[in-house]
Amino acid sequence: MAGTFRALLLEKGEGGQQAARIAELTDADLMDGDVTVAVSHSTINYKDGLALTGAAPVVRRWPMIPGIDFAGTVETSSNPAWAAGDKVVLNGWGLGETHLGGYATRARVKGEWLVPLPAAFSPAQAMAIGTAGYTAMLAVLALEHNGVTPASGPILVTGAAGGVGSVAIAILSKLGYRVIASTGRVEEADYLTGLGAAEIIPRAELAGEPRPLSKERWAGVVDSVGSKTLANALSMTKYGGCVAACGLAAGMDLPGSVAPFILRGVTLAGIDSVMAPRARRLTAWERLARDLDTAKLDAMTTTVSLSAAAGLGPDILQGKVRGRTVVDVAA
Ligand code: NDP
Repeated sequence: MAGTFRALLLEKGEGGQQAARIAELTDADLMDGDVTVAVSHSTINYKDGLALTGAAPVVRRWPMIPGIDFAGTVETSSNPAWAAGDKVVLNGWGLGETHLGGYATRARVKGEWLVPLPAAFSPAQAMAIGTAGYTAMLAVLALEHNGVTPASGPILVTGAAGGVGSVAIAILSKLGYRVIASTGRVEEADYLTGLGAAEIIPRAELAGEPRPLSKERWAGVVDSVGSKTLANALSMTKYGGCVAACGLAAGMDLPGSVAPFILRGVTLAGIDSVMAPRARRLTAWERLARDLDTAKLDAMTTTVSLSAAAGLGPDILQGKVRGRTVVDVAA
């Protein structure tokens, strides 16, 4: 109904503890922006898990509608770049952190935050990709930018059965790279080879005390784990290789050495999806449309209702969620 919309609302009680409930809100509750979007789908990313559980201070405005991304259709726009009926996607820009997020049937945002939904994807598929998948593409672009090609050698993907990892494997294998998947869930070997992994190694292999340099094993890395895993990955990267660091599933620390940089010319490329400039986003979404097999995307995706989303916060933080989870906000 015009004027009202449904949302998952995160509130803080007097004791400081947070709770989520499904709420009927009005347009007066929306924040400033020049485009109003009928949201159809959002998703559960690791950062959404942090917001939903309060495990890290991701939410900086209360009450908050979580959801760091969404796909939907423009309802009204005073921004000349957008008109009613346009299909759009939004990743980051503080959504679900400082600006009301995607776990709602309506959002009001700045038009400059939006990108067009690629014709290759339905809104649900765009959110199956979500911020995790768009970040995986940013990481692949960073490897390419730093000269890593399929001929350079294999690519290590850590946190392989997670969202960033699953999409990264699918993209890299389609591009012709040999992918080595590191996972704590070796029972997911069939899933990972189905996505395109050529080799699976147990997470523990990269979790020990890092040495400054170890045997050269891969030309590039997409790392969503951080900490000792990232340090070990760096120490095993071939001469002239590149490591794209995008996550912290095991920790924010980096207990490594400069040896890979100064003795092997390895590049550590930082990946940020939230404030990434618009041109890079457009490139990433264009490349996703070209280089991601939608059958593989569908195989890694589970869909849940808005009310079920809140309960999945702890699961994603504990590494229990496989692949990607779409939130059907109308359900
Ligand atoms: P997921 O939970 O889906 O994936 C993370 C994976 O990491 C898990 O599935 C698991 O994979 C592995 N993992 C979890 N805990 C540990 C641990 N303690 N030690 C080693 N491995 C672990 O999350 P996402 O894919 O959504 O996000 C992954 C990371 O990337 C997060 O840290 C997130 O914050 C970050 N991120 C960063 C972005 C950016 O802009 N830089 C954007 C999006 C995400 P397995 O079971 O296969 O080992």
